Amino acid sequence: MAYTPGLDANILAIMVMIVLSSERIPKSKYNKEKKAIKTMVINITLFLAFDTVFRLCDSSDNETLVTVAFIAKSLYFLENGILVFLWNRYVGKLIWDEGYQHKWYKYVFEFSICIISLIIAVNFFIPILFRIGKGGEFIVYKLHMYIITIANYTNVIITYFSLVRNRKRLKPKNFILLICYPIAPLFAEIFQLIFRNMDVMSLYALSAFLISKVDNLNDALRDPMTGIGNRLMLDDKLNRWFSSYRNNCICGIMLDIDSLKAINDTYGHQAGDEAIMHIAEIIEDIAKRYNLYPIRYGGDEFMLIWKAPTKEDAKKLLLELRKDENQLAGRLPENRRISYSTGSVICAPDDDMSAEDFLWLLDKRMYAGKHETENKIEYALRNNGLHIVLQPIYYVPEGRLVSGEALLRLTDEEGNAIPPKEFIPVAENTGSIYQLEHFVMKEICKIASIPDFTERGLHRIGLNISATHAARESFPDYLIKTADSFGIPHNHICVELTETAVSSNQEIYAKNIKKLHDAGFRLCMDDFGTGYSNLRRLSSLSLDMVKIDRQLVASDSPQSRELTRLAVNLIHDLGYEVVAEGVETAEQAEFVKSLKVEYIQGYYYAKPMLPEDFLNNFPGKQ
Ligand code: C2E
Ligand code: CA
Ligand code: CA
Repeated sequence: MAYTPGLDANILAIMVMIVLSSERIPKSKYNKEKKAIKTMVINITLFLAFDTVFRLCDSSDNETLVTVAFIAKSLYFLENGILVFLWNRYVGKLIWDEGYQHKWYKYVFEFSICIISLIIAVNFFIPILFRIGKGGEFIVYKLHMYIITIANYTNVIITYFSLVRNRKRLKPKNFILLICYPIAPLFAEIFQLIFRNMDVMSLYALSAFLISKVDNLNDALRDPMTGIGNRLMLDDKLNRWFSSYRNNCICGIMLDIDSLKAINDTYGHQAGDEAIMHIAEIIEDIAKRYNLYPIRYGGDEFMLIWKAPTKEDAKKLLLELRKDENQLAGRLPENRRISYSTGSVICAPDDDMSAEDFLWLLDKRMYAGKHETENKIEYALRNNGLHIVLQPIYYVPEGRLVSGEALLRLTDEEGNAIPPKEFIPVAENTGSIYQLEHFVMKEICKIASIPDFTERGLHRIGLNISATHAARESFPDYLIKTADSFGIPHNHICVELTETAVSSNQEIYAKNIKKLHDAGFRLCMDDFGTGYSNLRRLSSLSLDMVKIDRQLVASDSPQSRELTRLAVNLIHDLGYEVVAEGVETAEQAEFVKSLKVEYIQGYYYAKPMLPEDFLNNFPGKQ
């Protein structure tokens, strides 16, 4: 075994690279890219390992060693091609996200690696590339060697071209690292040509080092906060989709978080950011499932874009997404009251619509949708389109219904019912929530002011107040004034509040609650157990009861049951009464009863109903 110059450098480089590539990749959105880098580093390590094996076995006349050297050298050539191939693909993905700029790039790259593999494969049987002579000497067949080299370097040139042309899409640091990646090996090969007996193959390790330093976080095409595509990616994709020949439909849908402004105002910006990231995650999930591109379009606006073979396919997918929309809302903490408004799908099949037209239309349709709800609220406020329904609440110690929660209903011009999930967030955003809730206050007062309210066995009526409203300075006085004008005892009204996180209005919120409590109103924290639950704050507020959310109560899993049990005990320990909400079955009712909750509300006992029907449940002495 002869000593070859450079061998020790090779071994050293391999050792360093094994350390480099043994680094565990943390689970993250970006691990796909990190994995690609790791794959490249591992391949460079293998490449150097094959070279080392070849050098160790080379120049020997032992037949086994000659065979080993032959195999090692073949794998070395193959690995060389693979290295270029991986780099091309990686650069393509980094710049274009979904692959290469032009389809023919892909074909050239794939064709090259096929040719290289073929030559190497044939060489096992008929020496056309190289062979190792009896005495261990290395004999090269120049023509095929040139083909391999040209194939590799054509690919390098194409990718260089693409890199330079699109350098703005990459962070400068990444651009330089990627440009430098093939330089070290090239230098090594030229050096080898001039100084025949020098070996600088270990320079490949430099490439491994460079590539491992590429980070594509904050890549120009991604939104830094959520990691999903940004507007640049959107423009880019649409421009490409619209400019290339098309026999399919380009589709898009716009989503936005209606209540982001309210979240920011009441819960603080950090909560707003959290909400955005949470939404982005959900949207990304959906995008993955259906093979769509998720984009963060603006502050609280997201988009999904995709290509569908036909208009029918686009419509089908939209229906699927609509189904998902409910699921989507279900995954959000209810008290955060995040809701989406989705624009309709725009399908641009054959007409000569441009990318700009497409975006403009999507935008317009979404605003029209939002505006529609806004208009419906305005219309309902002016034209008696509002009414309340009451859902009876069961009192466990007395085994009967004793109170009710008022729920607002909105009907539009055509008589369609708009669900609160749709209009409450819009109202919170535009400020009409105050008017809506003033309406509910008055309706509740009308019921609570019937002369025999208490005689009928009624304790109180629940009034939902949004967090934005509850933190409004004038809120307690308004409620007191309204109740007094109807002459009703304050304890006949129970104000249902939602939890708040960090907020500049937290002080006013707490002060308002105390003021109402001192004035004799009953106070209930709504939707406990989902989203944000700050126990210290819960104990510091002047409350009477806490309502456990139906997401927790209605789930029959052992974990949810255990959580419900813990929540009930905890609320009791704080000295508050418990309302279990959303009880739908006898079994759920038995379960919450076994936990000694005071009140139960849910379809199992009664659905929300019109005030007359509600009062019929409380006939009193007749
Ligand atoms: P919420 O305050 O948690 O009200 C309870 C919701 O749960 C009601 O839906 C009620 O119909 C529903 N529900 C009651 N029992 C069951 C059950 O057993 N199973 C199921 N699946 N659902 C049940 P609704 O009327 O659609 O109201 C939804 C939300 O709209 C309310 O949730 C509340 O957050 C909001 N909302 C309604 N009216 C007002 C209002 O006047 N002001 C404010 N700020 N929000 C309101
Ligand atoms: Ca409520
Ligand atoms: Ca609730």
